[in-house]
Amino acid sequence: MDVQTSATRRVLVAKPRGYCAGVDRAVQAVERALEQYGAPIYVRKQIVHNTHVVKTLEERGAVFVEETEEVPEGAIVVFSAHGVAPAVHEEAAGRSLRTIDATCPLVTKVHNEAKRFAAKDYDILLIGHEGHEEVEGTAGEAPEHIQLVDGLDGVEGVSVRDPERVVWLSQTTLSVDETTETVARLRTRFPNLIDPPSDDICYATSNRQTAVKQIAAESDLVIVVGSTNSSNSKRLVEVAKDYGAAASYLVDDASFVRDEWLEGVRTVGLTSGASVPEELVRGVLAKLAGHGFTDVEEVESVEESMRFALPHELRKDLRTL
Ligand code: SF4
Repeated sequence: MDVQTSATRRVLVAKPRGYCAGVDRAVQAVERALEQYGAPIYVRKQIVHNTHVVKTLEERGAVFVEETEEVPEGAIVVFSAHGVAPAVHEEAAGRSLRTIDATCPLVTKVHNEAKRFAAKDYDILLIGHEGHEEVEGTAGEAPEHIQLVDGLDGVEGVSVRDPERVVWLSQTTLSVDETTETVARLRTRFPNLIDPPSDDICYATSNRQTAVKQIAAESDLVIVVGSTNSSNSKRLVEVAKDYGAAASYLVDDASFVRDEWLEGVRTVGLTSGASVPEELVRGVLAKLAGHGFTDVEEVESVEESMRFALPHELRKDLRTL
């Protein structure tokens, strides 16, 4: 590669990116539980949707299971950041499991909204992706009041008992723009549709989308570091394309970046989902540097300072040390 081409190849790195407060808390909860109680620590579902995080914790003694029935009676189980339905807490209690609930407080907030509106007998339209763990947990709070609306296509199928008593809530990791469209379409059917008391799409999801919008138009290619089951990471790829990136790909790490993607590319945009450790972004930067992308600029759109305390079950034991 000649010097002139090297000098003109650049990377715009979006900020904020990567770990959010809920993911940081959930990962730390498993790490601290391993230190405090020793291995094995069981974790129901992936603690966060990132294959590298899960593998690293497995190496340290975490055992990931799909359901609480796989956890030996009396053992410790951590519930993931995505939250669980009340039935899962009951099953765990039935098996005398010691639980550490790492549900993100912003997911718990949506659960509480669902409970409050269900108690007032509202029909609740939960906008979210069918089969996603978070949606299953939230819907489990009031299954008889909640129906899932999986994007615009789901709007026509909705039927409610009383159009004057309908509220919408949402999964925390959706596309802000798409959800706005879905709500607008719902409102054409139910003009008195009530909004959630505060945004359900969390600060981290919306900030990462704002940040990628800022770099997308200037980028020939936007690389999003994240796993394929990470909802917020997948949304970043869609938002990048919608906002002007000629191409955008989701990669678990640098090894997934294909040389041919970089052919003819001058500017690469780079970001990562809310469950992605920064070292994986550094790996992609190193690979890009090997292809002459040495002019690296961080583009900050929003400052973040959110932090959450560790789950109380764990804090209680840490205090007794
Ligand atoms: S993406 Fe949002 S809701 Fe999910 S863990 Fe992070 S802060 Fe919590």
